[in-house]
Amino acid sequence: MEKEIIHLKERFDQQILFTRNSMELEKIRNEYIGRKGYISKLLGQLPLLSQEERPKIGKMLNQIKQSIQKVLEEKEKELQKQKTFKEEIFDYTVPGKDFLMGTFHPIELILKQTEEIFLGMGFKMVDGPEIELDYYNFEGLNIPKDHPARDDQDSFYISPEILLRTQTSPMQVRTMENQPSPVRIISTGKCYRRDSIDSTHTPMFHQIEGLAVDKDISLSDLKGVITEFCHQIFGKERKVRFRPGYFPFVEPGAEVDVSCGLCNGKGCQSCGYTGWLEIMGAGMVHPHVLEMVGYNAEELTGFAFGMGAERIAMLKYGIHDIRLFFENDIRFLNQFK
Ligand SMILES: [Zn+2]
Repeated sequence: MEKEIIHLKERFDQQILFTRNSMELEKIRNEYIGRKGYISKLLGQLPLLSQEERPKIGKMLNQIKQSIQKVLEEKEKELQKQKTFKEEIFDYTVPGKDFLMGTFHPIELILKQTEEIFLGMGFKMVDGPEIELDYYNFEGLNIPKDHPARDDQDSFYISPEILLRTQTSPMQVRTMENQPSPVRIISTGKCYRRDSIDSTHTPMFHQIEGLAVDKDISLSDLKGVITEFCHQIFGKERKVRFRPGYFPFVEPGAEVDVSCGLCNGKGCQSCGYTGWLEIMGAGMVHPHVLEMVGYNAEELTGFAFGMGAERIAMLKYGIHDIRLFFENDIRFLNQFK
């Protein structure tokens, strides 16, 4: 009988492990310690045992009964806890929890808007390497090794012929090398210069580059495209101005300004009392650049422009320090939701 009792307890321990609800629990309770359960049956057999065995087995049965009762109580508590937890999860009346929604970074917003505007005007996106050959970054753009224009773009060189691109303009050369005219491309991305960090400079920044080459492209096409872009980014009420400017890979070259949005061109602290804000460099592609990629410079003309995405974002959103873009302060970024 001793063995039978031990076996009974083992079976109970197994069964209780797989009990998942109060109905199952109740069934086990009846099976083992109910009035007609195993323990009761065994107790009923006590009178059949010898005088010596009777107290020993009786004691054993009582101990097992108590331990089973204890386990059943604990299991009941555990099931109750699980039940309340499940009810909590499925309580549809509880207000929903707020998800932390991310936002586009302001630079990303400017790049996206810019891309959309130019795609709408028939331009196509191209992408290029950030680790660039000196040839594409400078020489193919009419800036040979000894050219003073290199002084303006202090570069991170990996070897004498390889550097981190200082501008997105290499994409002009790369595109024209790979396809015949007509060309209408926009290229955006990261650029690098060895600038000390201050409120308007960071060693990494983003540029937006554009190029159009075809027969009969004139300065008025450039003016039309750039003016349309400025109106879409800053608003139709803003005036656009072209001033002569020098860049080695365009001739003639121009600096483009938009009228200050704070003072409407009257002059204020923000625009240095000039009424204008400089936003980009542009010009007609230098014939030498066209010749170097094998285009017929007699037949084809084109325009190109380049601007800093940070500069555009600062002017559009009224941000006074470029460092804010890279500090990842969530209070700053949340404003662009
Ligand atoms: Zn102003």
